[in-house]
Amino acid sequence: MKIKDLGEFGLIKRLAGFFNQNLSSEIHGIGDDCAVIPYQGFQSFLITTDLLVENSHFIKGKITPRDLGYKALAVNLSDIAAMGGKPLYAFLSLGLPVDTEIEWMDQFFSGFKQLAAETSVSLLGGDTTHSELIVINVLLIGSIETALIKKRSQALPGDLICCTGYLGDSGAGLKVLLEELPSNEYTEVLVQAHVHPRAHLKEGAWLAQHACVHAMMDISDGLASDIQRMMEESHCGAHIEVERLPLSPPLIHASRTFDWLPHDLALTSGEDYCLLLTVDSQYYSQLNEAYQSCFQRPLYPIGKVLDTPKLIYTKDQHTYTPSKGGYDHFL
Ligand code: ADP
Ligand code: MG
Repeated sequence: MKIKDLGEFGLIKRLAGFFNQNLSSEIHGIGDDCAVIPYQGFQSFLITTDLLVENSHFIKGKITPRDLGYKALAVNLSDIAAMGGKPLYAFLSLGLPVDTEIEWMDQFFSGFKQLAAETSVSLLGGDTTHSELIVINVLLIGSIETALIKKRSQALPGDLICCTGYLGDSGAGLKVLLEELPSNEYTEVLVQAHVHPRAHLKEGAWLAQHACVHAMMDISDGLASDIQRMMEESHCGAHIEVERLPLSPPLIHASRTFDWLPHDLALTSGEDYCLLLTVDSQYYSQLNEAYQSCFQRPLYPIGKVLDTPKLIYTKDQHTYTPSKGGYDHFL
C-alpha cells in the first residue's frame, strides 16, 4: 500500500495509533487543531505547526513574498483561534534554495512581522537550511484557560452547526490565479482571500467564553472534509443544508461569469480559515445576537449535528452530492 491509497487523514490516523499512547490524561496530542499542555493549574499551552512547500502550497510567481510571510503565520494563528486561544510565541524554520533573492526574503520577513505585531506574537527562534524548493515551517505557541478550550470532539446531537465567515472565496481566488482569469473588482477580492487570509482570532476567543458553544475547529481543508473530521472526533453525524452556506457577493458574481458552482467551491475548496462550530440549539438566538453586536456579522447556521455517524447534504430539500470531499494532500 502507498501513501496515496491511505490519504493524508488515513496516514494521520495511523500515526496517532503509534504515538497517542501513554500520554497523561490532561495532555492532548495528535487529533485536534492544536496540542494542549496544561501549566500553572488553570492555564494550558496550545501548540500548532504547519508546513508550506513551494509548488504544493504556493507558487512563487503567484504570491508576493510579503503575502507569503503573512500567510505562513496566519494559517497557524487560525489553529490557535480554533481552540479559542491567544497566540504568544512563534518559531520559523526555512529551507531555501541558495539563489533566493535577499530582497524576496526581506519582504517575506516584513509580511510575517506585520502580522506578528498585529497579534502580539514574538518570534523566538527556528532553523534554516538549504533545499531545492522553498519550505516554510511555523510553530506557534498560544495559551488559554484550560476550562475554556474548544475541541473538535465536543459536538452533541441536536447542536446547530455554524461557521464564522464566507466559504469558497479562497478556493475561487486560487482558481483565478491558476487559470489566469482576468482581474476585476470581484476576482481581486477572491485572490486576496487566498493570498492574505484573516485568522478569526477575536471570534475564537469570544466563542470560547460561551459554554453553549460545544465543538470548534478551523476550516482549512474545505467544509466537506473538516465537518467529517469534527464528526468523527465527536462520534456524531451531520446534516448540512447547502443552500445555507454563506457565499460572498464576489464569489456569486464571479461564479456567474466563469460558470462555477459556488456551493461546490464552498464545500470542497480549502483555506477559508474561518471557524466551524456547533452550538446548543436552545441558545443559538441569544448567542447570535450577542455575536452580531460584537462582530457586525452573523454566526451563519449551516446544518445540524445528528446522532448517527453519517454525513447528509441537501440543497433545497433535495439530496446534494459534493464533487469531492475537500482537500487531501495525498489524494
Ligand atoms: P490542521 O489542518 O488543523 O493543521 P491537520 O489536519 O494538519 O490539522 O492535522 C491533524 C492532526 O494531526 C493535528 O493534531 C496534527 O498535529 C497531527 N499531525 C499531522 N501531521 C503530523 C505528523 N507528521 N506528526 C505528528 N502529528 C501530526
Ligand atoms: Mg486546523
